[in-house]
Amino acid sequence: MTTSSLTRRQFLKTTTVAGAAVTLAKFTPRLFAAGAQPASPAPTPSWVDKPMRWAQLTLVEDDPGKFDPAFWLDYFKRTKSDAVCLSGGGCVAYYPTQILFHHRSQWLGDRDVLGELVAGCRKLGMVVIARTDPHATYDDVQAAHPDWIAITADGQPRRHWASPEMWVTCGLGPYNFEFMTEVKKEIMSRYKVDGIFINRWDGSGMCYCQHCRKNFKDSSGFDLPRTNNPQDPARRAYILWRQQRLFDLWQLWDQAVRQINPDSCVIPNTGGGATSSLDMKKIGELAPTLMADRQARSGLMAPWAIGKNAKEYRAALGMKPIVGIFSIGLEEPERWKDSVQNGAEIQLWVADLVANGMRPWFTKFGGVLHDERWLEPVENTYRRLAGWEKYLRNERPLARVAVIYSQQTAWFVGNKVEDNINGWYQALIEARIPFELVHDRLLDAAHISQFKTLILPNLAALSDAQCDQLRAFVNNGGSVIATYETSLCDEWGVRRKDFGLADLFGVSWKGRTEGPMQNSYLRLEHDSARGHPLLKGLENALRIVNGVWRLEVEPRAQFAQVPLTLIPSYPDLPMEKVYPRVEKTDTAEVFLRESGKGRVVYFPWDIDRTFWEVLSVDHFKLLRNAVEWATNEAPPVSVSGVGVLDVTVWRQKNSMTVHLVNLTNPMIMKGPVRELIPVSEQQVRLQLPVGARVSRVHLLAANTKPQFTQRGQELHVIVPSILDHEVVAVDLV
Ligand SMILES: [Zn+2]
Repeated sequence: MTTSSLTRRQFLKTTTVAGAAVTLAKFTPRLFAAGAQPASPAPTPSWVDKPMRWAQLTLVEDDPGKFDPAFWLDYFKRTKSDAVCLSGGGCVAYYPTQILFHHRSQWLGDRDVLGELVAGCRKLGMVVIARTDPHATYDDVQAAHPDWIAITADGQPRRHWASPEMWVTCGLGPYNFEFMTEVKKEIMSRYKVDGIFINRWDGSGMCYCQHCRKNFKDSSGFDLPRTNNPQDPARRAYILWRQQRLFDLWQLWDQAVRQINPDSCVIPNTGGGATSSLDMKKIGELAPTLMADRQARSGLMAPWAIGKNAKEYRAALGMKPIVGIFSIGLEEPERWKDSVQNGAEIQLWVADLVANGMRPWFTKFGGVLHDERWLEPVENTYRRLAGWEKYLRNERPLARVAVIYSQQTAWFVGNKVEDNINGWYQALIEARIPFELVHDRLLDAAHISQFKTLILPNLAALSDAQCDQLRAFVNNGGSVIATYETSLCDEWGVRRKDFGLADLFGVSWKGRTEGPMQNSYLRLEHDSARGHPLLKGLENALRIVNGVWRLEVEPRAQFAQVPLTLIPSYPDLPMEKVYPRVEKTDTAEVFLRESGKGRVVYFPWDIDRTFWEVLSVDHFKLLRNAVEWATNEAPPVSVSGVGVLDVTVWRQKNSMTVHLVNLTNPMIMKGPVRELIPVSEQQVRLQLPVGARVSRVHLLAANTKPQFTQRGQELHVIVPSILDHEVVAVDLV
């Protein structure tokens, strides 16, 4: 069985295993259907690889007649923006639409704001796409077409949560499939734009309207689910059915606009990481380009979160152009859509976005400015990036380490997958190890053979076929690091009796889980595992804190050395009672083995999740050391010096680049950054391609030619200082 062939039969089987006596007689999710071939997407429009700097002006209804189009056209020019997204229609039409129920801006009069802006942007030579947003509508629509409106679980038409005079539309019914198709066709016919960007197109949560009830029942045999439990058969079917419906909608819209302008496409605002609801593998097949919509930091969030978004999309889209949307305003639950961010925060966010291979897209809501402080930072950033353009046209990343993310684990197991991924992400950033993300349904050789080490952060749901792919990876000399419940469930989140990868780990599950553990420790076995690379930097530590959850496991193979053993929990109060009842056990808490040229590390506890929770330096060292031991080769780039840097390394046609983003800041875990604080000298050691000669080394931000030496295939460069973002650009001949 391949990963793309989760058949109806297996669906039935695992449903029965889950204890549900329901027949999924009619349900065949095409998305995962047997023998499903990758979607054969429509041709890539000729323009998609051209733009490097996007602008977006999202008009508000009263902008027509109030805002100054000439100002915006001038700003697009000053920022050297080469593509733009302009408000078209859906919720509000900014042109004289002829479509019944397509609401013209009440301030439009006889103007054609969209037309004026399209013409102005075309004069500047920009790629132009139009924005539509279908998620809300008005009383006249609700009265004429009540079945276009979303229905709540208790059967009521749904008012809009923020604009209570409006109605929320159903994303999966005729409002989108029929009405919005006509809107897109009209916009494309009138303006021949290069594409149509679709915001908030995928519904606004569960809808219990007549169409959703009937279509789901006809397709799956179930009534719409009333629980979020992913092991409920109706919920499980819904998770897949909704996706199929949205992929059908996407393709319907795409075909409709291409019939009018064959060199165009629709671009749904969709995608993300493990917790996103639409399958990234399928998205990667359908989309010729895509926008990652993580506009700014919110709450507790590291500045690398935007770079992570880039890696999530690249895992599915490969080197198709990925555009990173950033907001000039705050991105918090209270919204404040007319706010303006601190310039330093914008600058750092964009730096990490670009360093991770995305092209920037600024988004501004409202054509009338309430606060002009963002204009200069964005202009300066864009002009700088325009000067670097040739070095930003990457052909491939050169990272040798990758972290796998799993939507099926998030959908069907529902554990907190992001905490484990974030733990690894933070550790790899601190270790300055360049890395990529990989999608768990893309574990074929074409997607993973460039990596030496794959990291499986508590990847609970893995099919037998996916386990086979990981075994093959190790047999071919790759290394694997896994934590906690990795492979303990099948692809539907149903528990196995033992790990699917028990043979690879050399370990079996004893059927018991311990946790949450209070006051538990790990003993570092310096006597029996003296000098083991896993304990590098911990030579003086006899014991360190344990994680919070552990699986009871037993080895099924011989392990040469056991560097970590368990010190079981003991009372943490009263203080008089806080002493270990057991000083030493022979319970191993890490399993390291060599398998041919590959190496395998398995931690039977939640080291990555705990690291994200408490950020223990000791756990960081274990994670870093595990990657270095498993990878067992000279890294593509190493950077020594003080500070926290996001290090990425890329190949372009005639050059290589090392991006160094300086995240060293008191506001590293919670924005906004007050000021950028430079770090001192960094020594960069870069592996050159075999046979390549260096013709020039250039520091793009400093605009200097640094000292460098070449020893064999290794290039040494000194970077004297980094404010926010430095790029070591190496021209090759
Ligand atoms: Zn509906």
